[in-house]
Amino acid sequence: MRRGVASGSERALPKMLWSPGTGPQHVVRVVNVHCPFCRHDDSRVIDSRTAEDGTSTRRRRQCQACSRRFTTVETVALSVVKRCGTSEPFNREKVVSGVRRACQGRPVSDDQLTLLAHQVEDQIRSTGAAEVDSHQVGLAVLGPLRQLDEVAYLRFASVYRSFESIDDFLAEISALRESALSRPEGS
Ligand SMILES: [Zn+2]
Repeated sequence: MRRGVASGSERALPKMLWSPGTGPQHVVRVVNVHCPFCRHDDSRVIDSRTAEDGTSTRRRRQCQACSRRFTTVETVALSVVKRCGTSEPFNREKVVSGVRRACQGRPVSDDQLTLLAHQVEDQIRSTGAAEVDSHQVGLAVLGPLRQLDEVAYLRFASVYRSFESIDDFLAEISALRESALSRPEGS
């Protein structure tokens, strides 16, 4: 008895089309995921959940060849172009270590640094850009760092904005004082 050609097994492309927002610079990729057990490149999505913060989606998949199940996590590509022109994936740890240097000796906890790095990432991702330069990352650090610790902020800003004289510091300090005065009591 001859086996019929399997029908109805149209190769369902893993649904990895991703387009949050409509910015033209979004990177939308279609990726074939290989089964981690048998390397087969065709899987069926059986469940899909978006993370609360909306930055990633977990998908439960079933391999079409060996039927085993596995999970993929998809995130929107975000890379940082360094001053030398090369680019690398955005990394919150790098933000933390950069800011930590400015926070030496200051009452800033690791948790606060982690939160700051999240705020920086959120701010950058909210622009919808798939690629930013390292200058923009520094810019996104300034706001939340200023809320966190004014001394650390001054240190970070002095490097980031290349302060050249005491006047640069004085100008920044008086800007800080002004915004502190205009801030409502207790905030
Ligand atoms: Zn498999």
